[in-house]
Amino acid sequence: MNYDMPLYRPPSEAYSMIFQVTLGCSHNRCKFCYMYKTKRFRIRGIDAIRKEIEYVAKQGYEFDKVFLADGDALVIKTDTMLQILRLIRDNFPFVKRVSAYANPSNILLKSEEELKSISDAGLRMLYIGIESGDDEILKLIDKGADSAEITESIKKAKRTGFQTSATVILGLGGRERTVQHCRNTARLVNEAHPDYLSLLTLMLGPFEDEYRKSLGGRWSPLGPVETLVEIRDIIKDISVKGIVFRTNHASNYLPLKGTISEDKNRLIKILNSAIERPEDAPLKPEFLRGL
Ligand code: SF4
Repeated sequence: MNYDMPLYRPPSEAYSMIFQVTLGCSHNRCKFCYMYKTKRFRIRGIDAIRKEIEYVAKQGYEFDKVFLADGDALVIKTDTMLQILRLIRDNFPFVKRVSAYANPSNILLKSEEELKSISDAGLRMLYIGIESGDDEILKLIDKGADSAEITESIKKAKRTGFQTSATVILGLGGRERTVQHCRNTARLVNEAHPDYLSLLTLMLGPFEDEYRKSLGGRWSPLGPVETLVEIRDIIKDISVKGIVFRTNHASNYLPLKGTISEDKNRLIKILNSAIERPEDAPLKPEFLRGL
């Protein structure tokens, strides 16, 4: 496969066959995100996609999941998406799940009937960036959706047959907005009730100054312990049950897993102990963190 690099996928899609049905991200404006800045967004033609699917089918590879890249494959028109999903089903009848990243606006712009037809055709999991539940932060980062729209997009996806995996970025509001980031993110999660929740840690590298400027100069990065405090403060306010929770992304200092709110006390205990004695905690060294 000749992928158009860079190529990103969620950690849980590590063993999935990836087809790039779009290149880049149709939004591509989030201030903290540099994933697709080198790419001009476009939707690939159905003939090129069909050729790739048929090529892979001839190779006899084994896989049971397919991930549709790049940044928001759900932006594709419903008819075309249904064609792609039909090609996948016909060529790989053994595939158990197809998934993709989706922006809140991709979901809100489609009707419930369209979304239902897409989930019925096999696209079962949507990875949706919440980033933060705080409207001030969402506006500053130019997410393109406020907390009410993000909440409704997750609820609508669930109503129409999708599993939803939401991501939040620790440190997005910096020290200056950490309290509102945690409080409002927990509120959004309680309202939207995604099936999965992953917390990632902000990594800006050489773009730190640019990001600070875009947040009006009022932003300073969190240290490792402060990011653990954010994890704790987000999960302590989540009261809904049955959310599969992970901090296994490469950007995180401490990998955690559990179900919230069921495992909340156990996770908070681990976090409190790491916050009090970080020197004894298995925190990932800076040089091992990455995207
Ligand atoms: S919508 Fe997602 S991929 Fe696109 S710019 Fe924002 S964070 Fe990056």
